[in-house]
Amino acid sequence: MLEIKNLHVEIEGKEIIKGINLKFEKGKIYALMGPNGSGKSTLANVIMGNPEYKITKGKIFLNGKDITNLNPDQKAKNGIFLSFQNPSEIEGVTISNFLRMALNNSKNKKISVPDFHKLLKEKLKLLKMPENFSERYLNQGFSGGEKKKSEILQLNILNPKVAILDETDSGLDIDALKVIASGVKNLMNKEKIIVIITHYKRILKYLKPDKLSVMVDGKIVLEGGHKLVDQLEKKGYGWIEKN
Ligand code: ADP
Ligand code: MG
Repeated sequence: MLEIKNLHVEIEGKEIIKGINLKFEKGKIYALMGPNGSGKSTLANVIMGNPEYKITKGKIFLNGKDITNLNPDQKAKNGIFLSFQNPSEIEGVTISNFLRMALNNSKNKKISVPDFHKLLKEKLKLLKMPENFSERYLNQGFSGGEKKKSEILQLNILNPKVAILDETDSGLDIDALKVIASGVKNLMNKEKIIVIITHYKRILKYLKPDKLSVMVDGKIVLEGGHKLVDQLEKKGYGWIEKN
């Protein structure tokens, strides 16, 4: 279980996360929604250990272990994965090499090159991606959809215990969305935790979260199930603050 207790986070002296409590249980899919600027990406980055953000109060536990102050590398080794809202481009590093390094690093042991290529081929096929995709430089000149697919490929190769997907569905056409949703679904088992940060109902239709939390201005203001997704899509977020 991933547990966030009374978390407060600052960036450049400004408080962004203002006391969040969340529990994510194994075997469940969670959705996190909320208006732009409410702190969703900040929360994801803090869980991943991004040092830009300062935790001023509160703790993060993974299976009872305090992981609040681990760095991103240690977080990855503990099985946490974050798919970035805006993945960066890396010139001169192919996806294939990047993924092999990332996999070796996260598992703390080396996978042989042939075994890795077998795994890569299998995942590319599963995600309906061409084989030569992995020979391109990481995210360079990628379309929005290709960047997101590259993140989902990474997710499938690393096969983490906790996956946080930050707007992985934004800007996708319906076919790409289906591929991505199935790439996420495929990963799910009773040991995993998946957290989907999204603005849209359509990915939730495929992934059917067990619980939805709504964040406004650095706080969780509402939690619920499927019905809440419909309400949010119809009414937006304004009504929550008024209640
Ligand atoms: P969301 O993902 O919900 O749209 P963010 O977590 O990206 O929200 O942003 C929350 C607030 O924190 C915003 O006001 C944003 O400008 C600020 N913020 C986030 N990251 C940084 C940063 N690296 N530097 C300065 N301000 C930031
Ligand atoms: Mg964001």
